Amino acid sequence: MKQEAKVYFCSSQQGRDAVFAALAAKVDKLVDLLDFSTIEKRDKVAVKMHLGFQDGYQTVPVFFVRRIVRAIKRAGGWPFVTDNPTAVYNAVDRGYTQETCGCPIIPVSGVKDGYTRPVTVNYKGIDKLQMCGALLDADVLISLAHSKGHACPGYGGAIKNLALGGYSAKSRWEKIHGVEQKIPYWDSEKCSPEHAQALVEACPCQALRYDAEKHKLTLLMYACMNQNCMQCLETDKDVGCLQIMPEFFASFQELMAISTKKVLETFDEDKRFFLNFALQVTPHCDCMGMAQPCVIPEIGVLGSRDIVAVESATLDLIGRVGLIEQSIPPYFKHVNLDPNVSLHPFERLWGAMKNPYIVIRYSEQLGLGTSQYELIEILSPEETGRMEPPKQVYERQPSFY
Ligand code: SF4
Repeated sequence: MKQEAKVYFCSSQQGRDAVFAALAAKVDKLVDLLDFSTIEKRDKVAVKMHLGFQDGYQTVPVFFVRRIVRAIKRAGGWPFVTDNPTAVYNAVDRGYTQETCGCPIIPVSGVKDGYTRPVTVNYKGIDKLQMCGALLDADVLISLAHSKGHACPGYGGAIKNLALGGYSAKSRWEKIHGVEQKIPYWDSEKCSPEHAQALVEACPCQALRYDAEKHKLTLLMYACMNQNCMQCLETDKDVGCLQIMPEFFASFQELMAISTKKVLETFDEDKRFFLNFALQVTPHCDCMGMAQPCVIPEIGVLGSRDIVAVESATLDLIGRVGLIEQSIPPYFKHVNLDPNVSLHPFERLWGAMKNPYIVIRYSEQLGLGTSQYELIEILSPEETGRMEPPKQVYERQPSFY
């Protein structure tokens, strides 16, 4: 494996108020540097995205999708944009159509989510996941991922785009999200119904649910929005029936690494490309289907042929700029803003047990790529700031006045 992977970076910041210094020009150059020449004539190119749900508009802008699709066609490939059937069905509401993207939009697992093939994972009692057929049909994979926070691993980008987005809804919601229930965290015999109810009431995030009929306490990992609070454990200290353990949260990330590996294995190494859009970085995933305040300053676009490197670089850049504190929604309780504590912004938000680097470590161990990278900035503000300023033109050709 390579020692250091190249990660190209287009900053949102620009050195001139000029077209040549702005993000579109930079992303075009990034695509040139990623080098689509390994795409062969007539290759079917899956542009895997998350097209969002319902009223969420903070996804990868169709503006860039169109430019990247054009570059794939120039290289001789036949692109199609793809995501789960639900997201595809009303993608038009968020501006994604064949006309705007410049290529067909295909449900990744067929019309009724059944165009899949089982792959063996054998992880904590989960034997198989259903991988999406359109990815298996493709010759080339281009991941266009929106970088944002995520309720389970703290962060979602390129890895999440494949780890969950590459599988049927049943696999995603029942198996991958269900892995959190595979590690025992509650001793039913030690816990009375009254105590279970007290635990439920202690949680400020409604992360604990109790079914009195079944005498079953469920801890919802996604809803445990900050393990800094530990109010449940405070209530439980004299009984000792509940545990909140790092392994519980890490298992989700380990399974993400495994399921991503399975997807990547279906493509030749020189036919995989990963672009992360760290723009409009929201606290929750696009799956929420709603607009959200952006909690991280605009960063830009990153691209690499190494999925681990692009994720590491994106997380590092997010870590460098930090949270926009006034944008943190009030429903995030117990956010750790202590500057003396070293935490990634998504750990501050989602709790230290949702450390977004965990999946990086698992992915590296599984051979998906390297976290060692060389960050190559394209048309940096310093560079464009030294360039000759253009004569300002406000309504360029073609013009209709
Ligand atoms: S750690 Fe806090 S948020 Fe998580 S389950 Fe316990 S009380 Fe709820």
